[in-house]
Amino acid sequence: MNCLCRFCQKPLSQTLVDLGETPLANSYVSADDVKSVVLEKRFPLRVMVCNYCWLAQTTETISADDIFKQDYAYLSSYSSGWVAHAHRYADEMSKRFDLGPNSKVVEIASNDGYLLQHFVALNIPVLGVEPAGDAAALAEGIGVPTRVMFFDETSAIALSEEGIAADLMVANNVLAHVPNIRSFVAGFKTLMNPNGVATFEFPHIASLLGSVQFDTIYHEHYSYLSLTFLENLVSEIGMSIFDVEKLPTHGGSLRVFICYPDAHVKSLIVDHILAQEVAMELDKPSGYEGFTAKVNKVTSDFLIFLAEAKLQGKTIAGYGAAAKGNTFLNVAKVGASDLDFVVDLNTQKQGKLLPGSHIPIMSPEKIKELKPDYLIILPWNLADEIIEQQQGIREWGGQFVTAVPELRIR
Ligand SMILES: [Zn+2]
Repeated sequence: MNCLCRFCQKPLSQTLVDLGETPLANSYVSADDVKSVVLEKRFPLRVMVCNYCWLAQTTETISADDIFKQDYAYLSSYSSGWVAHAHRYADEMSKRFDLGPNSKVVEIASNDGYLLQHFVALNIPVLGVEPAGDAAALAEGIGVPTRVMFFDETSAIALSEEGIAADLMVANNVLAHVPNIRSFVAGFKTLMNPNGVATFEFPHIASLLGSVQFDTIYHEHYSYLSLTFLENLVSEIGMSIFDVEKLPTHGGSLRVFICYPDAHVKSLIVDHILAQEVAMELDKPSGYEGFTAKVNKVTSDFLIFLAEAKLQGKTIAGYGAAAKGNTFLNVAKVGASDLDFVVDLNTQKQGKLLPGSHIPIMSPEKIKELKPDYLIILPWNLADEIIEQQQGIREWGGQFVTAVPELRIR
């Protein structure tokens, strides 16, 4: 195979991990449509690391067609924790950068307006850019003006020609999802005021490697980012990183602040985190070795747990039908005979089957009825929230299980 780096176009030769062929992690299968089960498409799920610019990346680019066949809308407002995170962000940024009625905040992939609504409440003008029409319509409905479009350098030029210039640009958990990351970030430069700021939040590859978060790998998640790589990208397009925050979201994320060179004072933390990455050898092939063996240990420990629980006649359910869980179950090769059912709050998913594993998705109400002995929390990053909500399982002696970074029964 002769793959070229998505960013620097040099040949890729180092594999971080090869997770085999899996269906798209958000392609839920209709339970009563045998054809959709039989014809389910699978794609290779493999992450390689560029030994020149240090971008870790999937090797397959999935067509927009296949991605949009996934017929449910992800709405950020479903997660109360995430909306609270967005609220804090709006308060902090508006104070720090002195934003007011004459400023402009632009969010890329603004979804249903979960974040920009907090700037609107502060009387700060906003614009959302969102490719999904249904999410954009919800945003408009709560007073968040939104353009339905994909964002890249070309669309940024078009917006800029309309006179739009941003004092603050936001992209939360979108950088990793863009196939052409260079054009995407260049678009920020085009649309920002000379004194403006852009912030990007993304899961930090240091957390993925350190906590064996292989289940955060899925096809639409093209890039796995270090600050080392981002520094390469940002300096190549003529911008600077002036601050970084470590966040607990998604198992360990970074919030990176960029600006035009010298427009803002650079914090010491930038070089500090770069030095931490050098200590982890994220600028050398050695930093990426040995990951596959760690993944195999996590999946085999989980399979042993499942087999023992089944032998004891236990009922096992999962909580959370989402991309993470789907990668995890498909890589571990867990199927409907191993896990009785998975529950999810999203009514659009209930009644369908998980992609690949074909485990039925039910309403969380089913937990009270079917009384599982073990509830596997698939989105481990939300474990505290879920355990608190589902304390009712203690009534029949039920226990919670998380499998990443290691098997934990509690
Ligand atoms: Zn590269």
